[in-house]
Amino acid sequence: MNQPKPTRVGPSVPVILVRGLRKRCPACGQGKLFHRWFSIAEQCPRCGLKFERIEGHWIGSVGMNTIITFGLVLIALIVSLLLFINSDIPQWYVAIGLGILALTIPPLIDPFTRTFWTAIDIAMRPLEATEVDWTVVDPDAVGVNSAAGPMNSADGNTPGP
Ligand SMILES: [Zn+2]
Repeated sequence: MNQPKPTRVGPSVPVILVRGLRKRCPACGQGKLFHRWFSIAEQCPRCGLKFERIEGHWIGSVGMNTIITFGLVLIALIVSLLLFINSDIPQWYVAIGLGILALTIPPLIDPFTRTFWTAIDIAMRPLEATEVDWTVVDPDAVGVNSAAGPMNSADGNTPGP
């Protein structure tokens, strides 16, 4: 059978990821999603995307936050070893500095890891037909709000002559 390749509907993966990195809705680019630093809206006020796409969604952002923090603390440790190995600066200064980093980085990057993790999730599991308002997310995706769903309407499987 000559099955056409499924076409991705909605923004491209790079666009989705950059929006996530900028603390914006990965689907439509809407900003101001946080009521407070740690408190993201339940869904996007513009396109209606529910950010917690599945139960346990935020575990991914916590994991990403942990990995980034460990990476940055490790880099800081290596840099301080290189800089201070032969200096008179007491080692516990370095230890305290690294401890402060380990405590301050996670809350600072929390909102960014939330939207970025949601972006990665959308890149891996594309938006479904009923998940967002497609007139906002991708006005060219004609018919995705119909019963056919984005994949069926986009890959040419609609009944023809
Ligand atoms: Zn949105």
